Amino acid sequence: MSAALCASACPSAASGLRLGGLTPLTSVDYPGELAAVVYCQGCPWRCPYCHNGHLLDAAASHEGARSAAENASRQRQVNGGSGEPARQRDREIQANAEMQANAETQVQGEVQGAGQDAITWAEVLDLLRTRRGLLDAVVFSGGEPTAQSALAEAMAEVKALGFKVGLHSGGPYPQRLAGLIPLIDWVGLDIKALPGDYPRVTGVPDSGEAAWRSLRLLLESGVELEVRTTPMPGLDDDDYLQRLMRQLADVGVTRYVLQQAQPDHLLDPSLRDQLRPLSSRLAHLNDRLPNPFQRFELRAA
Ligand code: SF4
Repeated sequence: MSAALCASACPSAASGLRLGGLTPLTSVDYPGELAAVVYCQGCPWRCPYCHNGHLLDAAASHEGARSAAENASRQRQVNGGSGEPARQRDREIQANAEMQANAETQVQGEVQGAGQDAITWAEVLDLLRTRRGLLDAVVFSGGEPTAQSALAEAMAEVKALGFKVGLHSGGPYPQRLAGLIPLIDWVGLDIKALPGDYPRVTGVPDSGEAAWRSLRLLLESGVELEVRTTPMPGLDDDDYLQRLMRQLADVGVTRYVLQQAQPDHLLDPSLRDQLRPLSSRLAHLNDRLPNPFQRFELRAA
């Protein structure tokens, strides 16, 4: 086959990206931008508070796509009343209206792929081609997107379509992340604990060193970065959070979110009774924790 013909007919390396679902429109997963979210299969860690257990295995599952829809919808409900700028809300309404009016693309509900065969990268690209001018960005989430070698090519294809690229990651593969940075416009990085305490959260030795190395790489690169922590029961008292936040500020983190674990669909359901709602601690935490960040947010479930 000629090179020219193959360029249009041959599957790209990105076609191997294994997906668990897609949210075609969200205003909360990439700050200030309207985005689609692609949920990648696979994660090397097993955090007890994970609410995306269906995305952890490397192979896609049908149930995973449905749950991704539920989680995305729940997140929007949590964030919906938080003073979202009117301009962005208007754009979301307009984009939704145009999507609804487009009978060919048939965007139904929150996530495509729910209850059907897992969505393919080719289907995602087809959808994105119809969204130019309506969406600003595509966020790769998971699971752990950097677990898949096809991610770089997928990001490059998203960029070629004119969208910004966002990444949600826990940073388990710093070397791989370093190679991706030139393709990324914004990162939401989970920092789960101080480095030595990571195995209590992830179940994996040395995972803390990897995550904090990823953090340093991102800070050095200058890519737009938001760091988030979901406090793990046993590592969530005020003193611990204070030490964690101080260390994050010391390495250069300026945007930080402390977020409540979702109480539903926990990987370890026995954790549910140990979760201490951040909402009931908000006032106390605000008084108790010095805020060393330019931007600090407490996000309750
Ligand atoms: S790193 Fe994220 S996706 Fe992986 S197990 Fe932990 S919470 Fe779940």
